[in-house]
Amino acid sequence: MFIVGVTGGIGSGKTTVTRLFEQRGVVVVDADVIARHTLERGSQALQAVRERYGEVALQADGSLNRAWLRAHIFANPTEKQWLNQLTHPLIRAEIIKQLHAATSAYVMLSAPLLIENGLQQLCQRVLVVDVDEATQLQRTAERDQVNPQQVQAIMQAQASRQQRLAHATEVLDNSGSSADLPPQVEKLHQLYSALALQ
Ligand code: ADP
Repeated sequence: MFIVGVTGGIGSGKTTVTRLFEQRGVVVVDADVIARHTLERGSQALQAVRERYGEVALQADGSLNRAWLRAHIFANPTEKQWLNQLTHPLIRAEIIKQLHAATSAYVMLSAPLLIENGLQQLCQRVLVVDVDEATQLQRTAERDQVNPQQVQAIMQAQASRQQRLAHATEVLDNSGSSADLPPQVEKLHQLYSALALQ
């Protein structure tokens, strides 16, 4: 299995870039989607959350109250650790399962926290989608209709641009226009397709 990790800070363009790889037939496993499913209604992990915090952690329909949990772990580092210990092994196991089920010549693992969570260890290559912080702020604020302070708080909880770039085997510069992306993606696709054959 030839695995290419894709990462980048919030608003760097991971989703935009991985969509272009998908258009070329590459299977993309999305760690964020898997993480959300880990705490879905009826899951064992959600049951453990309910046992720890009670009904306040749930919505009326029995699904997770994500806003409550986010605020709770933000204010309590010990609880954040507890939640990570509960969910991370489950998320990792599901990521590995989906990576192995992929049938394309190589497979991508898209994870905003690839480096922070040590997931680069699963990957042969690490592609970092890179823009400067000002661009990250501007594009995220526009996409999510949030203010720059909220984006900055998220950015501060993520690895720095330098930390991420230190793990890159390839860097995709997304500071230009969207039209600049397809040629860069095509070149990388050729590279990864060739490496996967070796
Ligand atoms: P991420 O998945 O890393 O958070 P997205 O792919 O969602 O980032 O990109 C963030 C926002 O910036 C989206 O609204 C996207 O359409 C836009 N965007 C991405 N690349 C470019 C670009 N090169 N020029 C202008 N806007 C871009």
